[in-house]
Amino acid sequence: MSKYIEPAKELTILEEVDVVIVGGGPAGVSAAVNAAEEGLSTVIIEKNGFFGGANVGGYSATIGGLFNSTEDGKPEQIVQGFAGRFADLLEAKGGLVRLERFGHTWLSPHDPFIWKETADEIIEKSGAKTYFHTNFVDTIVKDGEIEGIIVENKDGRGVIKGKFYIDCSGDGDLAYRAGAPFVFGKDGDIQSMTFTFRMTDVDWGKYGEWKLEDVWKKTLEASATGNYHLPRKHPFIFKAPNKKQAIMNATSIVAKDGRTLYPTKTKDLTEAEFLGRKQVREYERFVQDYIPGFENSYLMDTASQIGIRQSRTIVCDYTLKNEDVVEAKKFDSAIVRSAWPIEVHLGDKGVKVVNLDEDYYEVPFEAMIPKKVNNLLVAGRCISAEHEALASCRVVAQCFEEGQAAALAAVQIIKDAKTSRTISIEKLQDKMREKGSLI
Ligand SMILES: Cc1cc2nc3c(=O)[nH]c(=O)nc-3n(C[C@H](O)[C@H](O)[C@H](O)COP(=O)(O)OP(=O)(O)OC[C@H]3O[C@@H](n4cnc5c(N)ncnc54)[C@H](O)[C@@H]3O)c2cc1C
Repeated sequence: MSKYIEPAKELTILEEVDVVIVGGGPAGVSAAVNAAEEGLSTVIIEKNGFFGGANVGGYSATIGGLFNSTEDGKPEQIVQGFAGRFADLLEAKGGLVRLERFGHTWLSPHDPFIWKETADEIIEKSGAKTYFHTNFVDTIVKDGEIEGIIVENKDGRGVIKGKFYIDCSGDGDLAYRAGAPFVFGKDGDIQSMTFTFRMTDVDWGKYGEWKLEDVWKKTLEASATGNYHLPRKHPFIFKAPNKKQAIMNATSIVAKDGRTLYPTKTKDLTEAEFLGRKQVREYERFVQDYIPGFENSYLMDTASQIGIRQSRTIVCDYTLKNEDVVEAKKFDSAIVRSAWPIEVHLGDKGVKVVNLDEDYYEVPFEAMIPKKVNNLLVAGRCISAEHEALASCRVVAQCFEEGQAAALAAVQIIKDAKTSRTISIEKLQDKMREKGSLI
């Protein structure tokens, strides 16, 4: 490949603030609101023109991880804090179904527009400054300290300087560019992507009691005819807050040559988008033909981008272990609970599920402190966790709480002249409890 050497350029310093957050998904929105509400000058960078990340742009469409796990017991909300606050705001606007059974736990389907508008409102009210349509592209690092980040948007390139940084990019872009070590899943194996969509004009009343197991039987039946291309035999279909709509977490993206598709490779993302849109039509046809109540339904819209479950995992002071999850481990430095199952999506090989009944594990603060970079925390799905552990802790309620923990840690770091490794964890936990978190 021939090369071109880009000449050096003088860049404008756009902002000098306390905290810079890259990524406006669940973790980023929570981090920005919490940091700004605590009086830190805060900037949040988001490459899309809206907040929500994989939960909205990738239309993962439900808040998972709020509830306990039990085969036959009652729902109990075990995560509150920013996660509970955001869910309450959505519900108050009619944008959330609080309880839909999912295996041994519950999830809360939401409306993507109401998610976006709620995030706009809460971010604006907090005073955090937003840069939409802005890509984080690089870091300026000296001796393990980030001195600034380089962003690029329609205006060109510029620098944003902060005292502290929080990587909420999902892909760990900021930590990676700053020199933090990372891994991809288990020996490079990561979970498959999904292209999600919505059907409308569904007659839910016609179905009776909605059971995903029935849909899975029908998927096998339809596949056996050879008339449908349905690589995923366990599609998830959820009732949306709008009573006519269905959330279709149904497709599974498998590369034509079977190789792993990486969300950090543009070629792979491009292939995934093409494959995803084709599969949407197959699953649309399948539900219209096979699922009672879907006969007159039709494709309403799709996610605006491919849904990414797993990307770079940043190596931190502690890596949440698979056994921590299955043994319901508790930590002195806990920042959030989770009873979400281990839910590993394996392309056309199905979904591996391990339920965590009657107890929950905790995520420790150290799983957000990256190695080799000092003034940085990671929050959301790029925190340090083994492959299966991440397949549990990556859901939205936990990402919200990690964003809150990172922001409140930044408050101590900046106001009390501490580092991520010298802050008082008790003080952080007290502050989280004050803001409603259950830890
Ligand atoms: C198909 C699918 C179904 C799922 N189902 C559920 C479910 O039912 N319930 C549940 O709770 N969770 C579900 N999840 C998981 C959940 O949606 C994600 O794990 C969660 O959204 C991660 O939040 P985050 O804030 O860490 O990252 P993300 O949501 O990925 O947000 C990262 C943000 O950073 C931005 N960004 C990235 N790089 C840059 C850059 N260089 N410059 C500027 N901005 C950047 C992105 O645009 C994005 O907005 C699902 C995920 C997928 C893919």
